[in-house]
Amino acid sequence: MRKLAAGNWKMNGTQAALAEVSALAQANPAPGCDVLLCPPATLIARMADLARGTAIRVGGQDCHAKASGAHTGDISAEMLVDSGASHVILGHSERRTDHGETDAQVHAKAVAAIKAGLTAIICIGETEAERDAGRTLDVVGTQLHGSVPADATAAHLVIAYEPVWAIGTGRTPTLAEIADVHAFLRARLTARIGAQAANVPLLYGGSVKPSNATEIFAIPHVDGALVGGASLKAADFGAIIAAL
Ligand code: PGA
Repeated sequence: MRKLAAGNWKMNGTQAALAEVSALAQANPAPGCDVLLCPPATLIARMADLARGTAIRVGGQDCHAKASGAHTGDISAEMLVDSGASHVILGHSERRTDHGETDAQVHAKAVAAIKAGLTAIICIGETEAERDAGRTLDVVGTQLHGSVPADATAAHLVIAYEPVWAIGTGRTPTLAEIADVHAFLRARLTARIGAQAANVPLLYGGSVKPSNATEIFAIPHVDGALVGGASLKAADFGAIIAAL
């Protein structure tokens, strides 16, 4: 399967930040992996215009489960497609925390996203307290089962394992811990969607940076990364892309 370097800009970036897109495209004209940037919704359409003809694809950071209607402030999967997006991040831990998103809601959003033609990047991960209690596999297994539609196909699905305590902290699990979780996720995903799970990219996310990307990408069942802070600058993200 082709690997994926996905950048999550979160609530960062105004029009001026779009200069990073051209810099990234110029520095990585023929990347050996798929490259995705997920800017704030305000930048999706312009970024998609700028990225046209380059290897960079553009995604959203969330979508509503409904196609349209009285949902002030929300954006539908159809609107993301209309703006030029090919992917959408769903169930990121910041949305699960800030907006109380449940596995069932993430599941409903994923169904809507896939129906609209997007690839759903479904995020799962344990908190520090859950990790300390030895519950990591239990937690991510439950999140995966509850969030991933049973009829999802490999062409429209990506899973991102992001330990909550590793996001934006500079801390990461050991390489052996990441290996254990990713092998477990591959098995659980196979139980959920069948043999095609072998073709679903499993991303690691949480404090990925140029200095640790190479060793993380060497782990079996790590098929790329979901990168937050280090995706904001073309030089850093370009170095991560080069490591994949
Ligand atoms: P980080 O964020 O790379 O800044 O740790 C990752 C994420 O939340 O997707």
